[in-house]
Amino acid sequence: MNYTCPYCGRPTTITDPNKYSVWNHFYLKESILGNVGFGIDAITCPNEECQQLILTAKLTSSNTHRSTGDIKNWRLLPESEAKVLPDYIPEPIKEDYYESCRIRDLSPKASATLARRCLQGMIRDFWKISKDRLKDEIDAIKEKVDSDIWSSISAVRSVGNIGSHMEKDINVIVDVEPEEAQLLIGLIEQLVDEWYVVRENRKKRSADLKNLVEIKINQKNRSQDISEIE
Ligand SMILES: [Zn+2]
Repeated sequence: MNYTCPYCGRPTTITDPNKYSVWNHFYLKESILGNVGFGIDAITCPNEECQQLILTAKLTSSNTHRSTGDIKNWRLLPESEAKVLPDYIPEPIKEDYYESCRIRDLSPKASATLARRCLQGMIRDFWKISKDRLKDEIDAIKEKVDSDIWSSISAVRSVGNIGSHMEKDINVIVDVEPEEAQLLIGLIEQLVDEWYVVRENRKKRSADLKNLVEIKINQKNRSQDISEIE
């Protein structure tokens, strides 16, 4: 079974000791859903550095004690489709992002409100800009951000309710659909990559280069010392 782990994002093939399924017919008077059964699927990610548990549950129709199709599915672990954000992202931003993902389908309104607060948190933390309204903060970064990023922000902003969501104070709650909340969540994921991950990688490359230069200087000094002794 080909599979992409929702924790580490690595595509992988799941074989036997890494997966387990169980399903049971309910010995129960027929409900309005017909005869039903319930099943659990569990997977352990085969990536040695990950080994996370993925757990889903399903209610199925049951015909002569056999599952004949899913009625409802539940994602138990991980709790949402959220991407795992790197450790160097500030904790309040991560919390808002994870919670926004977790409640997207249950309460898109609350999800979008959290996503909007998350976006504001990122602009304040990353760009050190703080204004009363999110709209003014977004406008203030227009000249600073890459034009591709700006077009993503504008695109999300142009969508009906989400747009008015981004114009208004973050405490104003506006009705939205799960798909619209997902647009905001997707924007946050893109901005995490383009701002924080890019900056962190650049820092790391600079540190690596500095280390390399120091090693070279040390080697040179050492060989000079040796030649002086000789
Ligand atoms: Zn994994």
